[in-house]
Amino acid sequence: MAEQPNNEPVTAKKQIPVQEGLFYQPQSPEEKPYLIGSKCTVCGYVSFPKLTVCPRCVQKDTMAEVHLSGKGKIDMFSTCFAALPGFQAPSVQGYINLEEGARIWSLITGTGPSDEAIKNGMDVELVIGKVRTDADGNDIMSYQFRPVKS
Ligand SMILES: [Zn+2]
Repeated sequence: MAEQPNNEPVTAKKQIPVQEGLFYQPQSPEEKPYLIGSKCTVCGYVSFPKLTVCPRCVQKDTMAEVHLSGKGKIDMFSTCFAALPGFQAPSVQGYINLEEGARIWSLITGTGPSDEAIKNGMDVELVIGKVRTDADGNDIMSYQFRPVKS
């Protein structure tokens, strides 16, 4: 194993989820990513992220965990020319209406920031990608959406 001058072993760069419990990152090419949400067993309300109380019927213990396919449509989007430290700018961000019913805010990738190809109503799919690098050089991974190639 390679060693640094201070004799500490060189650690490999890791991929770390931005937050536990938000999504599943495929471990092989045969697997697909999914978002971890919840669905109310009484009224059918779907949320992402997962909730413990349904915001529509306001009842406890009715929200069951569901895996959301990550298929949806762009509802609206914006190009952001500023970013927090460690993040990249410009970036495209927008609301995605998931086919299961939840509406979420997300990064939109796979296009340039001023790409005229992005349109409201466009089909998008979930991808898990790097959003920034932490102080130790690890990749911080999160959910993002990219236009579906037709
Ligand atoms: Zn409900």
